[in-house]
Amino acid sequence: MRFSIGVDLGGTNIKTGLVSESGEIIHFITTPTNAHSGEKAIVSRIGQAIRQLVDQGKSFSVDLKDIVGIGIGSAGLIEPKEGVVHFSPNFAGWYDIPLADLVKADLAHDSTNCKISAFPIVLENDGNAMAFGELCHGAGVGTKNLVCLTLGTGVGGGIVIDGRIFHGSRNAGAELGHTIIQSSGRLCGCGNYGCLEAYVGRHYIVERTRSKIIVEGKHSSLADNLNDLTPKMISDAAKKGDEVAIDIFEETGRCIGVALTSLAHILNPEMAIIGGGIADAGEKLLFEPIRSEIKKRAMDTNADSMRVVKAQLGNQAGLVGSAMLIFQD
Ligand SMILES: [Zn+2]
Repeated sequence: MRFSIGVDLGGTNIKTGLVSESGEIIHFITTPTNAHSGEKAIVSRIGQAIRQLVDQGKSFSVDLKDIVGIGIGSAGLIEPKEGVVHFSPNFAGWYDIPLADLVKADLAHDSTNCKISAFPIVLENDGNAMAFGELCHGAGVGTKNLVCLTLGTGVGGGIVIDGRIFHGSRNAGAELGHTIIQSSGRLCGCGNYGCLEAYVGRHYIVERTRSKIIVEGKHSSLADNLNDLTPKMISDAAKKGDEVAIDIFEETGRCIGVALTSLAHILNPEMAIIGGGIADAGEKLLFEPIRSEIKKRAMDTNADSMRVVKAQLGNQAGLVGSAMLIFQD
């Protein structure tokens, strides 16, 4: 059995895991990113976690020689071949950072572990890594063409075509959260108007719920918690029959359905995988409105051939997907 090390470099935490080729996480370590501490400190934390994992692998009968490489997933505009982060929303001031080389150099510092620094390192955008994780060991097993959306504060995306991650001409493709669903819609964080993210990102779900209760005067069980609302509280209320909360998820589902209709027409994927915390709202609240919107709008063949399913790897998709990058070819 071969193994690799996956690194999910997030804005809050760095998750580093020893993962088998069959997708099993043997052991993993979570360390705070401290995003403002600078690239040197972050690279050193990644290096330390990798060294620790290799060391601890022995107690799981994983030898250094069984580990074939390291895959790193990070938000931002990534150049996978060169291993460079051109820009990342998680790290202010990071421009053209040769992350793969920096991690390699950090691993080389420790001469007792010179073999670790010889590992190949693959870098990838985190949305792409998640999509690849779901393809290899999650909801997308057995498919070759899929799109993946991750719903959170922002909306991440990944596209797999013929079993391979689609990058676009300058690696800026698959920004699915910025699919336009309203031509003169809400302002998005990207500066454009009417993006999917501006309608189904966490902030808008909360803001829209507040507005229904405060501005439209709708009665809701959430009225007492308006200052600390979360999508989870809204979906819990919806599951107990709260009409405002049910409407919010119905609207969220419809917006996702509109975006997926475009993707179904452009790419004709076999599957659309939806992950992230907001997807936990589940089948009835979220997935049924998504599917019915696609059914209503898309051409039959495009709608019928695209299964809309929940992500299976949860918040480990990025870690598993990053680890699997090394087995791509
Ligand atoms: Zn946008």
